[in-house]
Amino acid sequence: MAARIIDGKAFAANLRAGVATQVAALQSAHGLTPGLAVVLVGEDPASQVYVRNKGKQTIEAGMNSVEHRLPATATHEEVLSVVAALNADPAVHGILVQLPLPPQVDADAVLKAIDPAKDVDGFHPINSGNLLAGRPGLVPCTPQGCVMLIKDALGDDLSGAEAAVVGRSNIVGKPMAILLIAESCTVTVAHSRTRDLAATCRRADILVVAVGRSEMIKGAWIKPGATVIDVGMNRIPKDDGKTRLVGDVAYEEASEIAGAITPVPGGVGPMTIACLLRNTVLAACAQADVAVPDG
Ligand code: NAP
Repeated sequence: MAARIIDGKAFAANLRAGVATQVAALQSAHGLTPGLAVVLVGEDPASQVYVRNKGKQTIEAGMNSVEHRLPATATHEEVLSVVAALNADPAVHGILVQLPLPPQVDADAVLKAIDPAKDVDGFHPINSGNLLAGRPGLVPCTPQGCVMLIKDALGDDLSGAEAAVVGRSNIVGKPMAILLIAESCTVTVAHSRTRDLAATCRRADILVVAVGRSEMIKGAWIKPGATVIDVGMNRIPKDDGKTRLVGDVAYEEASEIAGAITPVPGGVGPMTIACLLRNTVLAACAQADVAVPDG
């Protein structure tokens, strides 16, 4: 039987509508308009598309959007001084530095320089530590969105499920594994040194893949009925010389075996910005010391 397609695009639109409701409530009750600042260094085309979309969706949600564009030649100190100015700006509640950064800029040091209260990407060591310890904090957007989609497919109680996360990056794989542990799943984290990846995947009721390799996970590796979340975004050439976006999972064959699956595009991708907007509202409420409105 064909898998249920998890519609991340629709889910994210709903989430953004909820954020817009929260923003309107904050404005009328407290005169508070959450503000999100994005820092883009260089001309990376993919980053430019992300930053444009972030700005557009921030404004659509009724929030203030600030963009700082620096040339690819910007020094480490110049990037740090932009971050310091944004940390000090009371109208800015969330700061996102678009990765990757050029080689002369130390990305770890820049992420560490962001005020943890404004770290809406959730990459600051304080927020990573809070996530690890199960304390409140700002949670990385992509894995946060993945958990929402998994719960949309399986319901809120994930306890006892066998979960496998393929990929162990700080941005996706590791925080994803921590969030699934917090949901009381039994979690295996696989990576490039995993001996039998197919067998690891086949045990998983919940399979999250964040590798960056086109259609690497085969249909035969999927446990029948599993929920499959494909984080991968890979551009491959088409016959007409253009490119198309594919995930890390061989979608056609996997959707014959899985119980539910995210498509690429239209699955995890739209959730990331929606969760970023959500984090900006949470950050603004915490900074203004007001309750988070219903969305
Ligand atoms: P990354 O930092 O390059 O990490 C990739 C991970 O995959 C690493 O842990 C690596 O293992 C593992 N890996 C590589 N080859 C493997 C193999 N043959 N078998 C098993 N594991 C393997 O990538 P990332 O930043 O996490 O991103 C992963 C993918 O998600 C990319 O396609 C990216 O574009 C996409 N992404 C999408 C969103 C979104 O909003 N939808 C957000 C972020 C990322 P080692 O650690 O052993 O090297």
